Amino acid sequence: MKQINLYNLTYFNNQAHLNKLNRLIQIREKLMIHDIAIATGCEFQDAAIILFYLYNYYVAEMFLIVYHNKHLDPPVPSLVRKFLEGFPQFPFTCSVCEEEVVSSAQVTYEFMASLKETVEFISEKK
Ligand SMILES: [Zn+2]
Repeated sequence: MKQINLYNLTYFNNQAHLNKLNRLIQIREKLMIHDIAIATGCEFQDAAIILFYLYNYYVAEMFLIVYHNKHLDPPVPSLVRKFLEGFPQFPFTCSVCEEEVVSSAQVTYEFMASLKETVEFISEKK
């Protein structure tokens, strides 16, 4: 099990907040920024940092989810790309409605981390 120290994130110096985060990653294999923010009550900025820690510490693969703005309620992905493949080239064909998507104004992006090993978040002064 890999440990990731969140001491730099003040919100997670609180043991109850840290426990909520550790419970979340025990039950969920795929995580998005809003999942972390909702489950722990942290700011979206902190949640984004945590998501990228998972990637930087090699405990998660990172994906870019591309939503055609026509399918946001509920959100249905049009494309799922590996993070390193970067943003999609336009135009592309939406896999949901098969329309041609011609510009970034027609899409919404989200990052998703897919855990590949167990991890525990801690908060310890170095
Ligand atoms: Zn579509």
